[in-house]
This record gives sequence, structure tokens and C-alpha cells, in this order.
Amino acid sequence: MDKNALYYQDHYVKAFDAEVTSCTAADGKYLVELSVHGFYPEGGGQDADHGSIGEAAVLDVQEVPVTDPASGEKQRDVRGNVVVRVLHTVDRALTVGETYHCVIDWARRMRNSRNHSGEHIVSGLVHRHYGYHNVGFHMSEVMTIDFDGPLSWEQLMLIEQEANAVVLEDRCVRAIWPTPEELEVIDYRSKKPLSGDVRIVDLGGADLCACCGTHVLSTGEIGPIKILSVLGHKGGVRLELFCGDDALQDAARKHEQVVEISRLLNVAPSDIVDALKTYMADSFRKDRRIAALNTRYYELKAQSLQEETGVLIDFEEGMNAVEVRKCCDYFMKHTKASVVGVFCRKDEGDTDGAAPVEDIASYSYVIGSTNVDVRAQAKAFNALVNGRGGGQKEMIQGSLQASEEKIQDAMNRIFGDEF
Ligand SMILES: [Zn+2]
Repeated sequence: MDKNALYYQDHYVKAFDAEVTSCTAADGKYLVELSVHGFYPEGGGQDADHGSIGEAAVLDVQEVPVTDPASGEKQRDVRGNVVVRVLHTVDRALTVGETYHCVIDWARRMRNSRNHSGEHIVSGLVHRHYGYHNVGFHMSEVMTIDFDGPLSWEQLMLIEQEANAVVLEDRCVRAIWPTPEELEVIDYRSKKPLSGDVRIVDLGGADLCACCGTHVLSTGEIGPIKILSVLGHKGGVRLELFCGDDALQDAARKHEQVVEISRLLNVAPSDIVDALKTYMADSFRKDRRIAALNTRYYELKAQSLQEETGVLIDFEEGMNAVEVRKCCDYFMKHTKASVVGVFCRKDEGDTDGAAPVEDIASYSYVIGSTNVDVRAQAKAFNALVNGRGGGQKEMIQGSLQASEEKIQDAMNRIFGDEF
């Protein structure tokens, strides 16, 4: 951590000039060191800055500790700080000794600063009210925070409300570098024991925390803070949350979905939950009615086939896999057939990508028997009808592509000889 870095001196330095002090080729890219540290390196859960150095794009920034060649241990300065090199990964070579104009990707920096500052407020409030610690923090598409204790959704909604009140009050955010003596008496939040210079960040009284990240200057800049979810995680919880633009964009996306659902259900947006419950109950009733009608259909069809013996071949349409199996089961129980095959032609557009050829179609199938091991013949049957599938000795199921004639022929050839 470089106390003199520009982002610590002034949060709002968007561009600066710096001399390139080293440039090394690495994996098709270049690692560059600068005389001035203005790009924030990855650290404290916060992503690295991006931007440009002259014409070169900055793709990553990392702090790398300098180790003692003799002992292999990290070097420290007189104040106990680990000595680091700040390596900027860039996409083209830069000239050592030359001064370049450096520009920080400001939208990215501000997004990180907003998220980071919002995370402080939520973590500070959780710590104050429940005593839990922030034990993990990640920023990517969505920000996550891990706490070492349980929190309910209701508790988190109160935290969210309080956090947004801190935002609306637009309180000042300050960072100080206390002396070791001053630090002794400050009651701050920190994940680990610290050595060397310590930077304490005060989020307008909502949080007091040791932190090396970049922050906004007043809480109003964070914008809305929205907790999205909470899940149990390693004995505590993991929250997902958005701050600022991310929260607004998420709200806009969800609003569009609500409007679309209300249009589909033909009700006002405020009524979609009740309308959906009614719709689902209705759909459930229909499913039960369809299942009852299907059962009646299997019964009636089984009755009409009850005198069938030997190999019974039945072609159906519009059944799902469960219905095909039930149908086969009925025929096995209520006819005299030794082997039953039920073949259900798949709907158009459900042909496993194969182009329709004359009377060849895709079928799902179930073949069952009460006294013959059908599994033993599955491979031979599949080979004749371009099929795949298997199962138990009483029943096999799968899919195939063939004509009705070919299926009948295969059934009789494979299973007809058994009797
Ligand atoms: Zn911070």
C-alpha cells in the first residue's frame, strides 16, 4: 500500500502524467511500472482500475511484494509496510524513461468506489446491530458480502432501509492515517491484525473500518443500495447486493419484466402475484383433469386390446414420457400380450434436429413385459430402428427414428421369436 498514491491523496484524480520506469514482456502483454501510482491495484476485495497509459490500454494492476533474495521473506520499510512493486499490465510496449499521459477508466473506478462504499455502510450497520463480521467481499457482476452469523431477510430489509437513509443524508466520507498510538484507541472494524501504516475510513458514522480501497467522498454519491438475496454460507450468510447505477439498472430490468408479465396476464402490475397464483391453481386443476382423462383413455384402450396376445404394438401422439410409460404399464396389466411396445410420435420441431425423410419420424418409446427380459434385447432393437435407450428387465425406454413399418418389423423380429 503506497500512502502517496494519487487515489489516496485525492479521490478524484482522473488523469495524470507519469514516467515509465520499467517495461517487461510477459505472455504477449507487457508489465509496466510508473513513477506515480494513480491506478488502483486490485486489493481489499476491490477490482483493479483500468484505463490507458499513452496509447496502451491498462488491463490490470497488481501490487507484488518485493522479497528478500536471501531469506525469501517479504521486505518491509522502517514503518513496517511491505515493500511492493505496482505492475500495470498493458497491451503494448512502452519506452522506459518516457513520460506518458495516463487516464483512468472513470466509470469503472466510480462503480467500484460506489459498491465498495455501499458495502462499508451495510457491513458497519450489520456489525453495530448484530456484532457480525464481514468475512468475505467480492465484486463482479454482482457484489457479495459474507457475514459470520445468521441474518433473516426481514433483518436485512431493516439494514437496507437504514443504509439508504445514510445515503440520503449525504454524509461526509473521510480517510485518516492514525499513528499507532491513535490507532490503539480507535474502535474500528478490521478483518485481520495490521502492521505498518493503517488507513481508517469513516463512512459518515455508519462504519469505521481499516481499508485500502477507493471510496466516494460523500454517501449521497453511492446512490441506491439494494440487497438482492441472502443464502446460508459457512455458518453465516452470503448477501448479494447492488449499489448506484447497478441497482437502478437492475430495478429497470425487473420493472420491464413486471410490465411484460402484467401484459401477458392482462392485469395491473400491482395484481400480478394474485393473478399468477390463480393461474397456477387453475393450471394444477387442469393437470389433474388431464391425468384423470388419460387414465380413462388407457383403461378404455386396454379393454379394446384385452384379447391381444404375443407382441402388442401401439402408436400414440402427444404424450409425454411419463404418459407413455403409464400407457405401457396399463397394457401390460390388462391385456394378454407378452411384450408391449408403446411408441409416441414426437411433435414437429422435436425431431432431434434430423430432417424429416418420407414416413420416418422421431418417437419416444417404452417396451415392457411381465415375463420376458426386454433389457437383454434393447441393444438389438435399438440397432434396427436408429434408437437409443435402456432400462430394467421388465421395461425399457428411449427414443428412435424410424417409420411405423420399420418399428413393427423390428418389434416382431426381436420379440416375436420369444413365443
Ligand atoms: Zn473501503
